[in-house]
Amino acid sequence: MEQAELRELESRCIQDETPQCIAACPLHVDAKTFCALMGQRRVDKAWTILAKTLPLPGVLARICDAPCKEACIRKDAGGAIEMGCLERFCAENAKAVAPPRPLPSRRKRVTVVGAGLTGLCAAWEMTRRGFDVTLYCQSFDCARAALSERGVSAELLDKEIASLVTMGAHLMPDTEISSDLVESLMEDCDAMFIDSDDVSSEVADFGQPDGLTLGTQRAGVFTCRRDESSPVFQAAAGRRAANSIERYTQGVSMVLKRELEGPYKSRLFTSLADVESAPPVSCEAGYSEVEAKNEAKRCIQCECMECVKVCEYLHHFKGYPKVYARQIYNNESIVMGTRQANTMINSCMMCGLCETVCPEDFDMGEVCLQARRTMIEKGTMPQSAHEFALRDMAFANGEKSALARHAPGVQASEYVFFPGCQLTASGPDSVEAAYADLRKRLSDVGLMLRCCGAPAHWAGREALMEEAMGELRETWQGLGSPKIIVACPTCLKTLRAGLPEAEIVSHWSILRALGPAECASKAGGIMAINDPCAARHNAMLQEDVRALLDGVGVEVVEPEFSGDRAKCCGYGGLLSEANPSLAESLAEKRALAAEEDFVTYCVMCRDMIAKTGKKALHLYDLLYPAETRGADRPSPGYSLRRENRARLKERLLTDLWHEEGGSAEPFEAIQVRFSDLAAENMEQRRILVSDVQKVLLHARDTGNMFVNKENGHLLSYVRPVVVTYWVEFEREGEAFLVHNVWSHRMHIMGGRK
Ligand code: SF4
Ligand code: SF4
Ligand code: SF4
Repeated sequence: MEQAELRELESRCIQDETPQCIAACPLHVDAKTFCALMGQRRVDKAWTILAKTLPLPGVLARICDAPCKEACIRKDAGGAIEMGCLERFCAENAKAVAPPRPLPSRRKRVTVVGAGLTGLCAAWEMTRRGFDVTLYCQSFDCARAALSERGVSAELLDKEIASLVTMGAHLMPDTEISSDLVESLMEDCDAMFIDSDDVSSEVADFGQPDGLTLGTQRAGVFTCRRDESSPVFQAAAGRRAANSIERYTQGVSMVLKRELEGPYKSRLFTSLADVESAPPVSCEAGYSEVEAKNEAKRCIQCECMECVKVCEYLHHFKGYPKVYARQIYNNESIVMGTRQANTMINSCMMCGLCETVCPEDFDMGEVCLQARRTMIEKGTMPQSAHEFALRDMAFANGEKSALARHAPGVQASEYVFFPGCQLTASGPDSVEAAYADLRKRLSDVGLMLRCCGAPAHWAGREALMEEAMGELRETWQGLGSPKIIVACPTCLKTLRAGLPEAEIVSHWSILRALGPAECASKAGGIMAINDPCAARHNAMLQEDVRALLDGVGVEVVEPEFSGDRAKCCGYGGLLSEANPSLAESLAEKRALAAEEDFVTYCVMCRDMIAKTGKKALHLYDLLYPAETRGADRPSPGYSLRRENRARLKERLLTDLWHEEGGSAEPFEAIQVRFSDLAAENMEQRRILVSDVQKVLLHARDTGNMFVNKENGHLLSYVRPVVVTYWVEFEREGEAFLVHNVWSHRMHIMGGRK
């Protein structure tokens, strides 16, 4: 990923954009953190937030007219947070803190003329930034009078003025302000601010200042508008003037990058979907500590996190896409990548739910896919991440499983049925039944058994994907480029993207048009539907399936995450290869999404849910029912899946086309039984019966084996490519009983060959 690309991605995730209240506050007080602390009754700590942001905090916190309320997201769920009341409570009850320590001196003299609220705030801001500030005024009466109208005592103002002096400002009260004085003071300073609320226009009239800079027609002289009545906007004018004077004395642009200085609308999105409406705690008589806490707790701590709320993968890695994009970028910059980051990249299911819920359409799946591709390119993808799935894909497209034929007895195909490699692996007899039904009701339907290439796509192996799609295209063209009937939603999506020249239709829409086959189940009942993530944004597919279920008398219950908001079962993106424990926990969550038994139209969803012990059917199980395919049947293991594919091909070749099935390999003749421990380890470590048979054949033919003296078991191994398979066994005549199996990628050097 290039830096520019990273920046673009980072900027699209708005999770840590400024909350609306802070953006709308003319002084940008961190109202969110303030509310969090107040909600925990940490009043002293909350005060430090105000004291560090507000000029004259003891005064302003008591009189702020809280324009942030208009922007508060809580406004639409009971009412905006009473920020003004909370700030006042905090000011009255928190332990006092020392005035802020000014920055080192800038050696620039600034004169402030007039001591209205804006003049005092400007003096505060500039003193704090290290300017040598001298404030001239006739008296502080103007500020006192304005504040007393708002219930702030003269003593409080005097305390803040004393703080201003402690910070280093020089005060020159009791000064007769005249035009001559203003003129002479201008000669003696680097910049001047005139508080037009406290200085009459006869003494100094520079007209209305520039709205952005508060500059006047006189260089180095700044002033404020006369018509501002909101105290917080008056204070903000003091800060704006300080910003301008800082720029002016540094000789930098007076206008560049000042858009976020005043109030603005933030890009942050915060959903109120799960927020209960609650009215503000009344503060007519001021707050007690408990009331203040309760009001502060109404703050929903605005943030986006829409994707994290719905995606267990994002939740699991404890961050959000903006952070992950940065981590992925950093991971690409180092030689091998960290284990944690690699696992994170390989754990996304590429299901697209994040993009659907994100207000900015951020697709984390695409980010992870690009990262996987880069890892492949740079050779940093751990070999173990997707190896088994890719071997499985090669098997599905290999001689033992792949098949392409016109319908028996015909030389051309109008259609070709493409059930996909997982349906043939999990429910071969349902594929057979579906194909028979298609042949009966449509003319000239050929058959293509192979994998669509989705595993290569998910693994980030573009070259392999192209190769698989190229072979598929050639095979399809060899059949005369017929319309392709697809049953698996992942195949449908993958083929539509990879074979755009083909006309591809879902088996479900054909069945909807034709009506269910005669053999379809009549049992009916209520079932929860599980939409596969690959069917997201495919309204027609979702509707066809519901219509078919209706047609066989099944009443459908829609769990919370259905249709376009469907969640992945844990299989997508090859998650179960890279992070099996996370895949299991996702499947369990899917299984808990409804009390009813599930029905789905992706066989991997069916099998993932069934692995958790929850009853689940594939739609074929209702449309082409068989006793062996009840909702409580277990998910077939990895070896059986392969065997199912190979047997299906053999059976179809023999029964339909009257051709010989492929020849058996020598290892297939090895008869073997497994202990429970061996069977469990094989499933967990993706060791196939054929891998074990190869070891046993090798041991039998070469005599290369060890004896475990403790139990008399024999041990042998084979390393076909990069993985070494070990088998612990005993002979049972010509057959073998396998007690344990394991595998590793270490290459042990030396020793006897
Ligand atoms: S939904 Fe997720 S990716 Fe989109 S802005 Fe929010 S946190 Fe960022
Ligand atoms: S709910 Fe809280 S964080 Fe959100 S805008 Fe209102 S005060 Fe700010
Ligand atoms: S693509 Fe799916 S699994 Fe990946 S981050 Fe988005 S929602 Fe989560």
